[in-house]
Amino acid sequence: MEKICVTVRVRPAKPEESSTNPSGYKWKIEEKSRISLHKSLGSPISGVSYAFDHVFDQDCTNSQVYELVTKDIINAAVDGFNGTAFAYGQTSSGKTFTMNGSENDPGIIHRAVNDIFTKIHTINDREFLVRVSYMEIYNEEINDLFAIENKKLQIHESLERGVFVSGLKEDIVNSADQVLKLFQLGEANRHFGETNMNIKSSRSHTIFRMVIESKTKDPDCRSSVDDAIRVSVLNLVDLAGSERIAKTGAEGVRLKEGKHINKSLMALGNVINKLSEGTKQRGHIPYRDSKLTRILQPALGGNAKTSIICTVAPEEAHVEETKGTLQFASRAK
Ligand code: ADP
Ligand code: MG
Repeated sequence: MEKICVTVRVRPAKPEESSTNPSGYKWKIEEKSRISLHKSLGSPISGVSYAFDHVFDQDCTNSQVYELVTKDIINAAVDGFNGTAFAYGQTSSGKTFTMNGSENDPGIIHRAVNDIFTKIHTINDREFLVRVSYMEIYNEEINDLFAIENKKLQIHESLERGVFVSGLKEDIVNSADQVLKLFQLGEANRHFGETNMNIKSSRSHTIFRMVIESKTKDPDCRSSVDDAIRVSVLNLVDLAGSERIAKTGAEGVRLKEGKHINKSLMALGNVINKLSEGTKQRGHIPYRDSKLTRILQPALGGNAKTSIICTVAPEEAHVEETKGTLQFASRAK
């Protein structure tokens, strides 16, 4: 079992969210691996201190995050190992910024796509076939972001294909440019019909998936099972906002969304927690408790590489949500 890599990323503070009378609390990062809550005049608050594989401060770039926590997953994916990288955190903490990036500092998805094709081009003794798909889970319904007419897709399982989303559009791709254009199209679909960009996107999980298949070109090797054909699945996941619904006083549609989100994030937490317990104690892993965990099942656990980037907001107004995110992250270690 591969260890799950758990990191935290603190985004820069926003002047409009910082209180004008900063009386109380401040997050401090120590040794790039511990984050603790302090009274602004110094003393640490006991019990509110968490250690992770890495804690990225507000000055770190997407490039640094990618190099440290996802590059290995991407390389392994080309070599035939499944992998999943998640961004987890409350709305507006920087999940999409981390996955999609900005014009000056491309995010993890962009970098992964480029690196995959660069790496493939250096491997001369294998033939590659790469397919991509992009889906959203909203209120426990799976929608295709490459084809908006594909709604409410079902999950099926077969001996041949394992767990799969039936009817999901998969495009065969040959270059990074082609994938990035498709991704842009999917992003436009993700926000289709939204007046406020952050409303629906903060309530849905998106899974950008690349399936990398390769076979050896060496005729002598074709019969030697293991290496002849390799298939790996790479998932890059931008999760729905993890904020508690009670706080937002939600009703009706928002409340329903919130319940679905909480259910699937809790299911994800339970699965990851089980996986990180180690083989001995583990027992049953509850992948079936949500669509999210079910879809990700093949690339979560076993010899799949998993990385969770927990994004947090530094402002005092968000202390409780930040604690919640750090607690989720701690359970995943
Ligand atoms: P989320 O997807 O978690 O809701 P976003 O990624 O949309 O949050 O981030 C909210 C806002 O903060 C956006 O305007 C984004 O550009 C900005 N932001 C987030 N993280 C960073 C960062 N590390 N550096 C600079 N700006 C950031
Ligand atoms: Mg977002």
